[in-house]
Amino acid sequence: MPIHEKHLIREENLLTHDKLVIEGVDVSGHWSTFIQTRVVSDYNEKMEDEIAALPGGEHINRCWQCGSCTNSCTVNAINPDFNPRYWIYLIRTGMESELLRDKDIIWQCVSCNKCTYACPRDVFPEGVMKATSHWLTLKGHTPKSPLQIFDEEFAGQVFAKGKIEESRLIRRFFARTGQPVVQDWLLSMVKRMIKYLPVKMLIGLGLQTLFHPRARGWARARAAINEYVHEKEAAHRKALGLPADAPEAPDAQQPQPHLDRKALIAALKN
Ligand code: SF4
Ligand code: SF4
Repeated sequence: MPIHEKHLIREENLLTHDKLVIEGVDVSGHWSTFIQTRVVSDYNEKMEDEIAALPGGEHINRCWQCGSCTNSCTVNAINPDFNPRYWIYLIRTGMESELLRDKDIIWQCVSCNKCTYACPRDVFPEGVMKATSHWLTLKGHTPKSPLQIFDEEFAGQVFAKGKIEESRLIRRFFARTGQPVVQDWLLSMVKRMIKYLPVKMLIGLGLQTLFHPRARGWARARAAINEYVHEKEAAHRKALGLPADAPEAPDAQQPQPHLDRKALIAALKN
């Protein structure tokens, strides 16, 4: 399978001699460059099966490495190191240590699903990116990504109340990912909402923030959902050979202090 978008000669594998003379010929510096042999000795033969056992990764075995996913990828257009086709290749060949070199960017998939539409084999590369990010966290290679933290907060609210309260969701997400609550884009959005949304809708949003509404008769649904989620989580951990009660991965960053209401009101008045 091709791996042509990547340089296989890495800076750390180059050896040069500052001073070297061979048979009277001075080959100092780059004239004496040697490339150290590239050896992969830590194949993880279970990696493909493990990622296939997580949601989104089910069809990874269908990939025939055409590269359409990478060619169409939104993030790859900005960062060529973001390469779904290459990571699928590494996963299928069990090259875990190579995959781990990119562990801090895999979560950056923005779920635009361009790759999903481009893929001729219905691999669902977007799902594979999510499954790989999940796998990295479960295996302890990365802390929870901001994406996973957002999903947790979103799902947590739905499980608890059957409804989403947007302002609480954003506040909690910012707190867990170490971001300030007062951000320019958010202020601009709030100002536009105040300007353009009907008063009745604004009052409804305000009341939601105060009273934290919940769906009627949600208790039974919540119990069933919780049971299903716990079953699934246990199955995922088992598929990865992890103990059922291992500690949770930490968040990507430490929590920030709570909302500074005075600062927020002052910013909105500007
Ligand atoms: S869904 Fe993710 S992997 Fe697929 S094209 Fe969009 S950013 Fe790239
Ligand atoms: S587009 Fe589909 S088949 Fe082609 S490399 Fe990407 S995942 Fe594999």
